[in-house]
Amino acid sequence: MFALENYPLPFARDGLEPFMSVRTVDFHYGRHMDTYIKNLNALIAGTEYENMPLVEIVKKSAAAGADGQKIFNNAAQVFNHDFFFQGLRRSGNTSIHKKIADTFGGVNGFAEQFKTAALGVFGSGWVWLVIDNGVIKIEKTANADTPIAHGHRPLLTLDVWEHAYYLDYQNRRGDFIDAFLGQLVNWDWVNGNLMKTD
Ligand code: MN
Repeated sequence: MFALENYPLPFARDGLEPFMSVRTVDFHYGRHMDTYIKNLNALIAGTEYENMPLVEIVKKSAAAGADGQKIFNNAAQVFNHDFFFQGLRRSGNTSIHKKIADTFGGVNGFAEQFKTAALGVFGSGWVWLVIDNGVIKIEKTANADTPIAHGHRPLLTLDVWEHAYYLDYQNRRGDFIDAFLGQLVNWDWVNGNLMKTD
């Protein structure tokens, strides 16, 4: 059984204030993520997916097309949310890896391109920093879609579903993106993900 406790937050519930409020963390992690986990458990009970690791469930259900859609949606959302939360830390004093910055013409270039992508997600979805065949890229996914279903390795993600920011920023997605990029990215963790894939 998957459970919320298997995906502990790497920060205190109030550790991201004021850029991400306790209320947002409690709803986003405690309610939204928990619901995806509960839905996933209910959907896989008694099926071939039941004892698979999460990443395998995501990949296998993605390959199953329409038949796997409900399982994929919930499994991918568990993976995506865990990856999002793992990338957060209230600090801002760690720095982006030179290899990432250089890919986008510098730190500001990265921030501009990541923000443009995040603002360009129409409706619900995610923006990612990934490695695709050895190339560092920014990409967007819609709804629950996830780079691991496409053979890309994620380094960082931002959830731009409205539930990720509406309590704190209402319709101002751009302000949420700025807070994320300026105050909340755990670059040590991202840089570590980059090193793993080299
Ligand atoms: Mn979310």
